[in-house]
Amino acid sequence: MSATPEQPFAPSPDETRLQARTVLKSVFGFDEFRPGQEAVITHMLAGGDSLVLMPTGGGKSLCYQIPALVRPGTAIVVSPLISLMQDQVGALKALGIRAEFYNSSLDPMAAEQVLRQLHQGELDLLYVSPERLLMPNFIAQLQSLPIAMLAIDEAHCVSQWGHDFRPEYSRIGALRPHFPQVPFLALTATADQATRDDIVTRLQLQQPRIEIGCFDRPNIRYTVQEKRTPFKQLQSFLDTRDPDDSGIVYCLSRKRVEEVAAQLQDLGYQAKAYHAGLPGDHRSQVHQNFLRDEVRIVVATVAFGMGIDKPNVRFVVHYDLPKNIEGYYQETGRAGRDGLSAEALLLFGGRDINTARYFIEQNTNEEQRRIESFKLSAMVEFAQALSCRRMVLLNYFGQRDGQPCGNCDVCLNPPRVFDGLEAAQKVLSCVYRLGQGYGVRYVVEILRGQENERIRNLNHQTLSTWGIGKEFSAAEWESIIHQLIHQGFLVQDIRNYSVLQFTEKSGQLLKGQVSVELALPKKATGKARGQARRTEKDELSTLQREVFETLRSLRKEIADSEDRPAYQVFGDAVLIEMAKHLPKTDGDLLAIPGIGERKLAQYGFEFLQCLRTF
Ligand code: ADP
Ligand code: ZN
Repeated sequence: MSATPEQPFAPSPDETRLQARTVLKSVFGFDEFRPGQEAVITHMLAGGDSLVLMPTGGGKSLCYQIPALVRPGTAIVVSPLISLMQDQVGALKALGIRAEFYNSSLDPMAAEQVLRQLHQGELDLLYVSPERLLMPNFIAQLQSLPIAMLAIDEAHCVSQWGHDFRPEYSRIGALRPHFPQVPFLALTATADQATRDDIVTRLQLQQPRIEIGCFDRPNIRYTVQEKRTPFKQLQSFLDTRDPDDSGIVYCLSRKRVEEVAAQLQDLGYQAKAYHAGLPGDHRSQVHQNFLRDEVRIVVATVAFGMGIDKPNVRFVVHYDLPKNIEGYYQETGRAGRDGLSAEALLLFGGRDINTARYFIEQNTNEEQRRIESFKLSAMVEFAQALSCRRMVLLNYFGQRDGQPCGNCDVCLNPPRVFDGLEAAQKVLSCVYRLGQGYGVRYVVEILRGQENERIRNLNHQTLSTWGIGKEFSAAEWESIIHQLIHQGFLVQDIRNYSVLQFTEKSGQLLKGQVSVELALPKKATGKARGQARRTEKDELSTLQREVFETLRSLRKEIADSEDRPAYQVFGDAVLIEMAKHLPKTDGDLLAIPGIGERKLAQYGFEFLQCLRTF
C-alpha cells in the first residue's frame, strides 16, 4: 500500500482505517462495520493485541480477515477444528482471498504445496491446527517470514473454566515471546470473567484491547415449551416451518439422537444423526450434506458444534435441557448467522433437571461441582422465566440495559400467572401423606381422585388428600408440580425412582409463610406459539417469491458445478434483496449488502441475465 510523503514508512491510523473500510466494501460487500469490529481492526492494524468477545454469529471473523488483507505478510489463524478451517477457507476463496489451511487432513504433497505458497508470500491467511502450529520447525519457519498477525479462534479452549478445554491450546501462549512484533488476537463467544482472565494470562496477551460486543442476536426468537410429549412437540414445530428450512435438533445423549433421527426419517424428513460415536468419515459426510442443503435436519449431541458456520440455519431445537447458558447460547447462536429471522426452541422438563443434577453430583472436584450447579440453576431460571427471555440472557452476560424484546415467547404470549399457594399446599400435603415416596404421575392421580388397581392395593383412596384437586387437569397438575420443583419447593430423588421429596423450603409453604406465583400451563403442543412467524421470505410478493425461487435454483446449479455450498455463492439475504429490487446493472448489484467486487465479477453476469427474464 502506498505511503504518504509526510510519513514515508508507516501509514497513518486514518489511512489504515480507510483501507479497512475499503476492503470491507470491495471484498466483503458490506457498507458498515458491526459494533466493535472497527475498533478491534484499527487496534490490530496499529500492532496491538486484542481479545474479542462476541456471540456466535456476531461477526468475529472479519476482525482478523480484514487486518490480514491490510497488513503486510500472512495472517496465521489457529482453529481447533478441521471442518471449520475447510469451510472458512472455502468461503474466503469464493471472495478471491488467498487462503489455505495446514492440518493433518492434507496429504504430504498438498501440505508441501501450502508451505511453498506460504514461503513465497502468496497467502493472505493460513489456518493451522494448534498441533501443527506448535511443531518446533514450523515455529522456526514462521519466525523467518513476515507474519501479519496471529489469530486464535475459539480461544476459550485455553481455559479449564471454558467448556471446551484443549491442552494444546494452552501451550500457544509460549509462542508470544517468539513473535514480539506480531499482534495476537484471541476470539471467543464465551464471556464469563474467569475464562476471559484465563485467556489473557495463558496466551500472554500484551495490554490487550478487550472488546466485548453486544451479545444480542435480535433475529433469533427464543421460545421455551414445557416438555410433555417431546417428539410430538418437535413435529408440530417442524410443521410450521418452511419445508426448505434447515435446522439442528440438539439432544443430550447419543441414544436419544439416534431415536429422534430415526423417528423423523420415518416421517419422511431429511434428517440425519450426528454424535461422537459415529465414524469420522460418516460425520463429515453428514456435515457436508448439511452445508449443501442436502440434509435438512441434523439431530446431534453437542459434538455437532464449533464447525457449524452455515449461515442459513433457520432453527435450533433443544430437545433436552442444556447444562448451562453458555452452551445454550452458543448452540442457539448457530441459527440465523445471515441475519434473517431464526428460531430457538427449548423443550424444558423437570426430569432433565434431575438428570443434569445427577451428572453434576458424579463430579469428584468440589469446586467444579459448585460452578456447574450454579450454571445449571441459571439455565433453569432462564427456562422458567416469566419475563422477557432475551433480557434474562443478556443479563446473564452482564448486559443489563435492555427493554423487553418483543421477539420471544414471553413477550409475544405473556404467561397468565395466578396465586398458586392453595394449589401448591394441596400438592405438598399430598406428597406428605404419601410419605414422600411417590413420583409426579402418582401424586397427580391421587390429587385427581383416580381409582385404579395400584391405588386400591395401597388403599390410598382413603387418604385425606385423595381427590382434593379436581379443579385442574392431570396435565395442569403436572405443570404445577414441575414449577414447584423449579422453584425449589420439591425435589425429585433421581436415584430413587424420582420420588417427590420435601426441601428446606417446603415447611414454610405448608404453613403459608411464603407466596407462590405460578404460571397457568399453556397448551402442550406447538399451538402455544401462536401463529407461525412471518419470515423475510413471507414478506415477498408472489412475483418476488417466484424470482427468489428462480435465483435459488441458479445458485444451486452454480454451487454444484463449483463443488461448494450454495451460501458461498450468495446468501439468502442477498437473493431476497435481488428479488425485491430486480437489479439491472453491476452498480445495482454492488449496492446490495454482501456483494463485493469479486462476487460481482464471478457471478454478476449470470444473475443479471437471469433477472432480465423478469
Ligand atoms: P462469528 O465468527 O462471530 O460466529 P462470523 O464472523 O461468521 O461470526 O459472522 C457472522 C455473519 O455476519 C457472517 O455471515 C458475516 O458475513 C456477517 N457479517 C460480519 N460482519 C458484517 C458486517 N460488518 N456487515 C454485515 N454482515 C456482516
Ligand atoms: Zn422478549
